[in-house]
Amino acid sequence: MAINILAAAAGFIHPFTMHDPNCLFCKIIAGEIPSRKVYEDEEIFAFHDIHPWAPVHFLMVPKAHIPSMAQVTPEHAGLLGRMMALAPRLALEQGCNPYPDGGFRIVTNTGVEGGQEIHHLHIHVMGGPRPWLKG
Ligand code: ZN
Repeated sequence: MAINILAAAAGFIHPFTMHDPNCLFCKIIAGEIPSRKVYEDEEIFAFHDIHPWAPVHFLMVPKAHIPSMAQVTPEHAGLLGRMMALAPRLALEQGCNPYPDGGFRIVTNTGVEGGQEIHHLHIHVMGGPRPWLKG
């Protein structure tokens, strides 16, 4: 990542379009580590959480390595908007019950004190009948 930032500072590349070879989610997006894929397009990837808290629990990630919400700038507004707009459709496709009796929860942990474990921005989408393991 440090090399990417230096290269970006020199004007060669954008800092958040790079694959981080040490990042678990970058490896999942690249197919280097298997996952149960929910969705993929040019800029967004979604896959089932390996430790689900709820009957439906998947993660939505930008393909670009953005470490967390703390690095988000106005230029990411379109991408984040598209992720949030996609979430309800994927939630229903994955088995969440319809609003208002069903629904889903969206959570984005940020930083260590925010409970973030993998430092590649991700949106948890959880739903399905209660009780849940957590949350
Ligand atoms: Zn990453």
